[in-house]
Amino acid sequence: MHLRQNFSLKSYNTFGIDVPAEYFTALSDINSLEEIAAIQKQKHILGGGSNILLTKPVKGLVIHNKLKGIKIEKEDDNHVWVRVQSGELWHDFVLYAINKGLGGIENLALIPGTAGASPMQNIGAYGVEAKDTIESVTFWYWNERTFLTYASRECAFEYRDSIFKHHLKDKAFITSVVYKLDKKPKYNTSYGAIEQELESMGVQELSVKAIAYAVMHIRISKLPDPKIIGNAGSFFKNPTIPQKLFITLQSSYPKIPYYKVNDTMVKIPAGWLIEQCGWKGYKTGFTGVHAKQALVLVNYGNAKGSDIWKLSGEILNSVKERFGIELEREVQVW
Ligand SMILES: Cc1cc2nc3c(=O)[nH]c(=O)nc-3n(C[C@H](O)[C@H](O)[C@H](O)COP(=O)(O)OP(=O)(O)OC[C@H]3O[C@@H](n4cnc5c(N)ncnc54)[C@H](O)[C@@H]3O)c2cc1C
Repeated sequence: MHLRQNFSLKSYNTFGIDVPAEYFTALSDINSLEEIAAIQKQKHILGGGSNILLTKPVKGLVIHNKLKGIKIEKEDDNHVWVRVQSGELWHDFVLYAINKGLGGIENLALIPGTAGASPMQNIGAYGVEAKDTIESVTFWYWNERTFLTYASRECAFEYRDSIFKHHLKDKAFITSVVYKLDKKPKYNTSYGAIEQELESMGVQELSVKAIAYAVMHIRISKLPDPKIIGNAGSFFKNPTIPQKLFITLQSSYPKIPYYKVNDTMVKIPAGWLIEQCGWKGYKTGFTGVHAKQALVLVNYGNAKGSDIWKLSGEILNSVKERFGIELEREVQVW
């Protein structure tokens, strides 16, 4: 194990924030976990760094996950169970699946980051969530220095949420995930502009590949590329509010977009709320709100994590003041 000290994380987070880790190591061999566990330092697991905001130098040991490998565990007439080591890039796994014609994750194409982070926050896009295909999650449990496997139902998956953000926060290093993919995919094209994009691509016959490419085209046209402008995708979650509050809001804002969660709760796009408060395209120093996507906070160059944190607080307050809705940050703050 190669341990570095005072190591810059600038190229290890998609916001491009330049803070050092007190200690840093890359993990490519699962057998090194025992050795790492013996280091008496607070441990932070880093995948692609696409869902974190670094607000200060990171005390303790940052472990950069480089565990690699994709392997079919078993299959039957309808499904294939694939074990993916957690340091694999999520999009590489999507490409693996679509090249084999296996369905289930094509709508999640081009989401940055590692497979290991996919259960952590139950990544989702275009009407599909990671939980829909996750069969089980295997993790190293620091407290007992042992591997445990949780079936999907034990992971408490919710919208951008799981047990790994709560009960198992800082206690589990997800080492591999088993996904159950479909040999006879059921396509989900009703969400967003997928159907429109498929049409403009001239797609005659649906396939997982065609859908993944449609999603990729849409994402490239809509979302800022972190290699050009630092960002972590959606900074806030879409809030779910009681139907009663929604009806009151709708009387003042008849055009408010919404999605009915159930008979009592309604989901509102956070981007719309932020835009109504006038933040879209806002810029102060090196930080700002993206001009095309109000949900995306950006680093235009040399922003500090604390600047982005401060701006996110101002946005939270203004949305709360105007709509009475408390937004929740989606990114993990370190
Ligand atoms: C341009 C852009 C677009 C995005 N679009 C989407 C989207 O459509 N949908 C969506 O859901 N997300 C989206 N995201 C957010 C992000 O890509 C996902 O949250 C992704 O899963 C983060 O993976 P990561 O490896 O980069 O995690 P990191 O940022 O490295 O880590 C995030 C958190 O997970 C923990 N973690 C990471 N790996 C492990 C592990 N192996 N075991 C335990 N804990 C771990 C970390 O400690 C940290 O707390 C987007 C981000 C960007 C920059």
